[in-house]
Amino acid sequence: MPSKQYKKLGCMDVEPKMGCAFEVRAETEDEVMRLAADHSKTIHKMTSMPPDMADKVKSAIKTVTVNV
Ligand SMILES: [Zn+2]
Repeated sequence: MPSKQYKKLGCMDVEPKMGCAFEVRAETEDEVMRLAADHSKTIHKMTSMPPDMADKVKSAIKTVTVNV
């Protein structure tokens, strides 16, 4: 059975105290980072992602394998 991997990131995994249930899924880490940056800009009013936040985001990204 072929399987496929994707990357998953939950806002909660990065900053539990924000209490945000947003989750993003994409095929690459770059895409996840882009979507996460977009989300934090529009929802959390963060105009830019500080480097320490970017590190936190990167380490919170999980790889999920699904059977297709
Ligand atoms: Zn959020």
